[in-house]
Amino acid sequence: MGFEKLKNESDLHIMGTYSRFPVCIVEGNGAVAVSDEGKEYIDFGSGIGVNSLGYCDKDWSGAVAKQAALLQHTSNLYYTKPQVAVAKKIVSKSGLNKVFFCNSGAEANECAVKVARKYAFDKYGAGRNKIITLKNSFHGRTVTTLSATGQDVFHNYFFPFTEGFDYAIANDFQDTVSKLDDSVCAVFLELVQGEGGVVPLDKNYVKELYDYCCDNDILFMVDEVQTGIGRTGTLFCFEQYGILPDVITLAKGLGGGLPIGACVTGHKAADVLTSATHGTTFGANPVCCAAAECVLNKIDSDFLNDIRKKSEYMFSKIKQMPGVSRVRGLGMMMGIELESGDSKSVVSECLNNGLLVLTAKMALRLLPPLNISWDELERGINILGSVLTKLFAWKKV
Ligand SMILES: *Cc1c(COP(=O)(O)O)cnc(C)c1O
Repeated sequence: MGFEKLKNESDLHIMGTYSRFPVCIVEGNGAVAVSDEGKEYIDFGSGIGVNSLGYCDKDWSGAVAKQAALLQHTSNLYYTKPQVAVAKKIVSKSGLNKVFFCNSGAEANECAVKVARKYAFDKYGAGRNKIITLKNSFHGRTVTTLSATGQDVFHNYFFPFTEGFDYAIANDFQDTVSKLDDSVCAVFLELVQGEGGVVPLDKNYVKELYDYCCDNDILFMVDEVQTGIGRTGTLFCFEQYGILPDVITLAKGLGGGLPIGACVTGHKAADVLTSATHGTTFGANPVCCAAAECVLNKIDSDFLNDIRKKSEYMFSKIKQMPGVSRVRGLGMMMGIELESGDSKSVVSECLNNGLLVLTAKMALRLLPPLNISWDELERGINILGSVLTKLFAWKKV
């Protein structure tokens, strides 16, 4: 089927929730995606931070194939081995206590909301149910996680939204604390606001807020759906902020390309969700868990060191490129602020030249596979450099 026919059939049969680029990806290897026309693209987007080990990593696809041939699913009414292996790894590496597995970031965040509300209900009775999130945040697309998302553009059409959320100004301790009255059970935030433009929170703000929440028995919950699993140069981003959250949520990179999310709780909230208070049919699917176990096994300290080295290299190269006014982010999660603010034309020019990049608000966003080879990285950086030179360099002369 030619591309035009595919596009027409897609437009006919698939809901128009995504405006897509005119490319059909049929296969991939490492950080290289290949289109139906045989064109190669260096992928600096990783399927939005999902393909943490790139396309079809041998160990990863081996682990997935092996589990698929052994046991693809059974219900959560029975015990299975892969989920226990992944939970053990997450718990021992995070310093938290217990895991609930689900299928996406939004679902992991739904679980965190339920944990926070039931934690406070069990301890204080009804009324302590409000959750404070941050302006410019993103927490997902379900009705409740849209509510949690602190951006007005997401609060449209789907009324009524879930009650019990309020939004504080990021990095403004006074404003945040002014919202933390007796009706509040939790603070929920991204340490690097991803969809909001790749904006890291200030360390002092986070530490002060964390201490305040500890003192007042307000759960401190971190949405690590995008920042987790090595993306920011440590396995979890919270490690770089000197805190141990009460709850974290994971998804995107966890399964290396298969749908799996997790809500991970520390000692305070580990036993809040009891029998029949939560569940999901596909949660802890054995194949997805085998994939996640492979990802977690690969991200050891050498692997993380490598991420930090590649990150440094990327930051230093990109800072010097024409049209770049600022580079933000941590590890291999980068936001590039452009002088013109026009990231859309850069994205399509990159695409024409064989490089996939993302945007977040006005910024260009890069989330390369964590194990991208130096050669692939160099190729991608060179394409980005030449595109920015073509689009911006004339302004400097
Ligand atoms: C992507 C994302 C989500 C939503 O994850 P889905 O898997 O799309 O439901 C939630 N929070 C953050 C920080 C994200 O980046």
